[in-house]
Amino acid sequence: MLNGLNAIVTGSTSGIGLGIAQVLAAKGANLVINGFGEDEAIEQERAAIEAEHGVKVVYSSADISKPDDIAAMVDLCVSSFGSVDILVNNAGIQHTASVEDFPAEKWHAVIAINLSGVFFGMQAALPHMRAKGFGRIINIGSAHGLVASANKSAYVAAKHGVVGMGKVVALETAGTGITCNTICPGWVHTPLVQKQIEAMAQEQGFSVEEASDKLLCAKQPSGQFVTPEQIGELAAFLCTPAAAQITGTALPIDGGWTAQ
Ligand code: NAD
Repeated sequence: MLNGLNAIVTGSTSGIGLGIAQVLAAKGANLVINGFGEDEAIEQERAAIEAEHGVKVVYSSADISKPDDIAAMVDLCVSSFGSVDILVNNAGIQHTASVEDFPAEKWHAVIAINLSGVFFGMQAALPHMRAKGFGRIINIGSAHGLVASANKSAYVAAKHGVVGMGKVVALETAGTGITCNTICPGWVHTPLVQKQIEAMAQEQGFSVEEASDKLLCAKQPSGQFVTPEQIGELAAFLCTPAAAQITGTALPIDGGWTAQ
């Protein structure tokens, strides 16, 4: 389905990004994977995706808080495969604290990775997509790009920014063969969320299982986590000809969270 297309998935050494990378590879896309981790584990992941799906996979160690690194990651995709057809801006971090207690360096880090990293990724990839007359930009926003929760000022600001910026890019690229959409997941059980579950368990004296249930049920009416594979399948659909007129949207995949 995606044979012959070349994709970058940022933050694909863990969680949602890894799920998206695996689904895109299963459908035939070559990949640039990216993210932090142990060299050996990353090489194993890279080789396993190549072997399992018969696609080419290269790794970029780009730090998504650094625009020069992002430009080098896009160049790596073009020099390795000849084009960048799909850009999934997924890398992200979380920090929770009230506005009064939010450390300035955490604010800057969340904005640099979750918002500015998306901007610089799109800025670097768009000229290549325009040259080819085809591109699929998929930004991983959040339910927190549509609604808020307490203690997540930087994250909510960044994710609302991603939704808005995606609309701008959709307008700037309308009719060119390029689309730009934001997927807005609810809770997905990844290391990013596990940290929040463990913090809640410790602060409120629950077991980790109880904290997980409470965190889920407070926001997500389905009472079930979204899976990385489900997000990967939605991303893959956005890359198909059937989705050519879907652009500038924010697509919730959140078990009903933002329906409330
Ligand atoms: P995760 O912590 O499991 O994975 C994050 C990935 O980003 C890792 O590969 C990590 O190495 C990478 N990363 C972090 N900082 C980076 C940097 N500076 N440069 C390059 N890579 C970096 O988290 P996740 O839950 O899979 O989150 C992925 C995305 O999904 C994030 O944008 C997050 O905001 C979003 N999201 C997550 C949830 C959820 O419930 N887990 C819900 C909605 C949105």
